This record gives sequence, structure tokens and C-alpha cells, in this order.
Amino acid sequence: MLLRSITAPLTAIRGIGPVLVPKFARLGIQNTADLLCHYPRDWEDRTVIAPISEFQRKQVCTEVSVIARDWIGFGRTRTPKIYVEDESGRAALLCFNRPWLDKQLVQGGRFRLWGRFYYKYGEIQSSSFEIESLAAAQSANFGNILPVYPLSAGLNQTMLRRFTSYAIEQYAAQLEDELPPEIIERDKLLPKAAAIRAIHFPATEAERECAKKTLIYEELFYLEVMVGKRASERKGLAVDNTPPLPSPLQQRLLERLPFSLTPGQQEAIAEINADMACSSNHSMARLLQGDVGSGKTLVSFLAALRAADDALHKNGGGQTALMAPTELLARQHAENAARLLEPLGLRIAYLTGNIKAAGRKDLLRHLAAGEIDIAVGTHALFSKDVSYKNLRLVVVDEQHRFGVTQRSLIMAKGNNPHLLMMSATPIPRTLALTVFGDMEVSVIRDMPPGRKPVKTHLAKESSEARVYDFVRKKLETGCQAYFVYPLIENSDEANLKDAAIKDAVSMAERLAKKVFPRFSVALIHSKLDDEEKRQTMECFRSGEISVLVATSVVEVGVDVPNANCMVIEHAERFGLSALHQLRGRVGRGQNQAYCFLVYSDDLTEDGKARLKVMLENTDGFIIAEEDLKLRGPGQIAGTEQSGYLNLGIANPIRDIETLARARTDAFFILKNDPDLVLDGHHIIARVLKEAPLFDEVAL
Ligand code: ADP
Ligand code: MG
Repeated sequence: MLLRSITAPLTAIRGIGPVLVPKFARLGIQNTADLLCHYPRDWEDRTVIAPISEFQRKQVCTEVSVIARDWIGFGRTRTPKIYVEDESGRAALLCFNRPWLDKQLVQGGRFRLWGRFYYKYGEIQSSSFEIESLAAAQSANFGNILPVYPLSAGLNQTMLRRFTSYAIEQYAAQLEDELPPEIIERDKLLPKAAAIRAIHFPATEAERECAKKTLIYEELFYLEVMVGKRASERKGLAVDNTPPLPSPLQQRLLERLPFSLTPGQQEAIAEINADMACSSNHSMARLLQGDVGSGKTLVSFLAALRAADDALHKNGGGQTALMAPTELLARQHAENAARLLEPLGLRIAYLTGNIKAAGRKDLLRHLAAGEIDIAVGTHALFSKDVSYKNLRLVVVDEQHRFGVTQRSLIMAKGNNPHLLMMSATPIPRTLALTVFGDMEVSVIRDMPPGRKPVKTHLAKESSEARVYDFVRKKLETGCQAYFVYPLIENSDEANLKDAAIKDAVSMAERLAKKVFPRFSVALIHSKLDDEEKRQTMECFRSGEISVLVATSVVEVGVDVPNANCMVIEHAERFGLSALHQLRGRVGRGQNQAYCFLVYSDDLTEDGKARLKVMLENTDGFIIAEEDLKLRGPGQIAGTEQSGYLNLGIANPIRDIETLARARTDAFFILKNDPDLVLDGHHIIARVLKEAPLFDEVAL
């Protein structure tokens, strides 16, 4: 049996009733296979004794006797406090919310104890511990390596451990291997049944590592098999070799622009034109990478013109959907598109979740009738009720912010439309090659001429007054400034209130009243409504507002050339790539631009070293690599947050070497046996057909 074919409902597992089903659903666990693939995020090793005296270095795992008992608190909040000791020392157990322990932990009794301890009020204490009687012989909770799972409300570790072990008992023995035997042998991987058992309940650390290695390889192998299949399907199609000249509409836009394209832009558009010129059943899948400010938007407009031109030649309606991650950015794109493209006769629409009912209905009607050429918006572009007459091109700006399902939803609105993804968050080259294996990549390496590098300074919070003075002088000469804060309001529920953290709301007030009383200061953040944001941006763009106080909503894409000062307070709270994006908001006009990274006075040396990367580098690719080194894998390029690769256990950055090997193996097999008919390859065909590891790969 293949793992993914175990579609038995959860209720088939002993102990899981209908009440628990929705709780599992919240973890994405719908059936038994999902439960078996809900891998631990960590393991607790309870095989090694760690006496109380070692509590500062490890989690304690020991045998104790109860020596004394006490209470803390009164009345209903009364909590048992039990003193225990082993040979090495004694400790106090605070039994919050576990009043029954009072009865269980009788004086003189012997118990097995496991937990995290700390030193407080002159004694070693714990409130997060597990304890059970020595008599409860051979309990699964001790003497083993136990899995620690990601949880959701209503499910705890004990439940997940129990149900997973039942599921393993019931099914693991029947599991078939899903990799070609020669690979399992070559890499000394575990059989599937053993790997699943050992990833959850390993007997030793070595066994666990082997299980991990097996499952990671397997996942990446199937990822690359799918990438490889797509690549060969695409390359199998006829390629039209007519030179990619600008189309008529493109030509007209280029003539109207006050500047000429940079070489990087020219190259990108030539590549796009070549893709889009191919026979109609070939569609483009291209990733356009270019640093902040390199002019990707214009390239996407030119691509949209190409799609519209196609329509002029064939019959009707070559539409483009341009999707941006925030309303602010979508609106800016819509306005630019209107300014540049409406004079050429194109019809532009702006669509977000906030468009009012009546207007929305009209808009959708026009879209469906093909009376709109370019729809610009947020994910609202692919709401259920939106349909297109002839969607030819999908542009996804800041692609890393979108999830897998979002992208495939919008692709489904057209008949195999072209896809252009744009990103300023550089994906390290190795990763781009392996993960975006079947996409073509265009890179814009140059900047529009006349850009001077932004002068970047670090400043301590205690010398903020000097930063403010500097900015005031610039404002007096007619420049504009951004002030960016990590929080909207300090009382945000998610963040513990911390008086030391400046937030956008209170700083907007302070800057307006105290610091820049002679200039107009405005506030923008994601919780304001769309109309208010629009007006604020409008006023900032027109120069009516001098100082824009913001959160990271300005991080992505916003373009106001006259703004040349960027002050980022609590800079240490932002990732380097985010700082790079923010800094990219300035330095777009004629004036020298400045960026101040203001950090807390008590920032560590490491923290400072991290910020210094920003002083020494202007290249987003280098900053991204540094970020990777400093922050560790999994954080970069939004790979984790957006889940653009829905992997279970592998991490394409951490596991880059395995990824490369899996790719070589997969491509080799596909090349020599494209139909997967050879011995040992049947299993690949079966997995793809009957029980794929991924629903689809949205690359
Ligand atoms: P990004 O690549 O970060 O999305 P944008 O598309 O927002 O960059 O472009 C940044 C700015 O550069 C815009 O104001 C745009 O009009 C301008 N621009 C784009 N291409 C050129 C060019 N070839 N020459 C001069 N300015 C350009
Ligand atoms: Mg952009």
C-alpha cells in the first residue's frame, strides 16, 4: 500500500471520535495518511538520565522521591507545590492546573520525572514537567525518544503521540517503498515502513537521522520528478524562431516614454516576447528577478501590451491580470497603468476586496465581456465570481508573497495563460535553479541611469535627535521622508506591550506635534481602509505630505521619486531583506538619498554586525545570502511563510545538497525512461498516478 492511499478517515483510528476531527483539520490533517505525515517538529530524548543538578544544561530526566508537600496561593487558585529529590539534588514542582497531582504524589513515593527546570526564589523549580509512578511499568513516556508535534487548540502532545502510534500499529506494516530500489540501496535509505515508524518513534538518534534522510530525499525526488516532467513537456513543444521584435503597442509605449529601457529591461522583454510568440499551446512560465527599483513594473506592462496585441491579430480579448500582494501596491500599479497605457487605448480596471458592491458588479461584467484589457488588483482578482473572457497573461508581482493555491487559482481563470512572476527578493542562485527548475529566469542586473547609491547610516536610539535634525534640513529644501516602525500600535494583542518600543501611531503624533511641527505628517498602515490609504499615498506623491509614517506596508513596491529620506526605527527588528526593500523606496529621484537605521541602545554586538551588512552592501543578492547565513535557513525569500512549496519535511534551502542529488536522479531517470516503464520505475509511475506526494507543483 502506498502511504498516500491510506485515505481511511481519522475516526477509523482507535480513540479518535468526531469531536476531534475538526481539531485535526486545523492542522491540515484530514485522513490517516495526513496523520502519518504530520511529522514531529522536534524530539525529546528521554533515554538518557539527566539528574536535577544538570537542570541548567539539559532537560531533567530522572527518578525521584517525594520529600515534602506544600501549597501556594489560596482558595480556588490554591496550587500544590511538591518537593522531590534524586541523588543529585532537590527541586520543587509547581502543579498549576493539575490539582490532582496533590493526591497522586504521596510522600515517600517513587516517580519518574521529566521536565524543564529553572532557578528561582533560591530553589530549583519547574511548572512544565511530566511525572509518573515507577510502578507504571514500561510506560511509553519514559525511556524513549518522544516526538514533539506542531499542535492546535484542543490537541496535546500526549494525544498526538497516542493516535499516531495507533495509526502506525494499524498501517505501517503494509507500507510499500516508494523509491526505486537501486536508490534505496545506493543511499542506504530505510524502507518506507521503517522510515515512518522511526520518524515518529525512533529507537535511537541514528535511526531518526536515517528516517529523516529517507523522507527528505523521497520528497525532493518527487518534487524534481514533477519539475522534470513539466520541463520536458514544455520543451517538447514547437518553438517559433521569429526574432522577438516589439509588438505594435509596445512600440507605441516605448516612443512615448521619456527615457529608454535599460539593457536589462530590453533583454527581459526580448525573452518575454520570444516566449509569447510561440505557438498558442505553449505558454510562458518566467521568473523576472531584479533588485528594487530596477524597473520590473514597466517590463510587465510591456508584456501586457504584447498580450493585448495578440488579441488584435487573432480574435478578441487578450487580457492580463496583474496581481500585487497589497492594496497599496495594486493601486499604484493601476494608476501607473492608467497613466501609461490608457492613452494607447487600453482599458484598465482596479479590483480589490474592498470595491463596493455596485461598482464591482459592473466591473466583473466588463471583465467577463472582454471590455477590460488589464485587471490590476490583489488576490481579489481570482475570487470565485471573477471570470475573464480571454485571460492571456498572469503577472504576479512580488511572487514570494503568494501561496501555492492562490497562484493556481488565478491560472485556472484562463486557458493556459502565460505566467510572469516578478521578485525583488533575490532567491539565491542555486535555489532558483533547482526549485524553479522548469521556469525560465530573466534577471535585470542594471538600474535606470542616474541613480546614486543611498547613503546609509547607523544611529543609536539615544541620538535620534540628530537624525531628526538632519531630516528636518532636508524637508526644508522640499524633500520628503519615510519613517518606518515595526508595529502599528504598541498595544497590538499579539505583541506584549513594551513601553520601549516606538510604534507608528504614537510616533506619527509625536513627529507631527513635536519634531516636525512645520511640516505635514501622515500615517499609513495596513489597518486603515483602502480609501484612506489611497488618499494618503496620493497626497504623499503630490508632495502635500512631507513625512509619511508607516509600517512595513511601504516595504513592497511603493514608488515616490521625490522621497529621499528613509528612517527605520528599531531596525534590528527587521530582516535584512526587508531592510533592503525599505531602503529601495528612496534613491529613485535626482537628489542624493539617505537611509538611517536607528537601533536600540542595548543592541548586542551580533545585532550590530547584522545591521552593518546594510552599510557595506547595496546588492540585494549579496544581502540575501548574508541574511541566509545569519538567520539560518528557512527564512529567506518567504519560502517558509508563503508555503510556496508545500513540503512536509524537506527544506529546499537547508537540504540543498539532497535537492541537487534528487534532481540529478530524477532527471536521469526521466531522460532514459520517460514513460517510466523499466523495472524499478513502475513505482514512480504508480506514486504519481495513485498517491502523489503533492497535489501539484505550482512552479
Ligand atoms: P521595481 O523593479 O522595484 O518594481 P519599479 O518598476 O517600481 O521598480 O521602477 C522604479 C522606477 O524606475 C519607476 O519610477 C519607473 O518609472 C522608473 N523606471 C523604470 N524603468 C526606467 C528606465 N529605463 N529609465 C528610467 N527610469 C525608469
Ligand atoms: Mg515592483
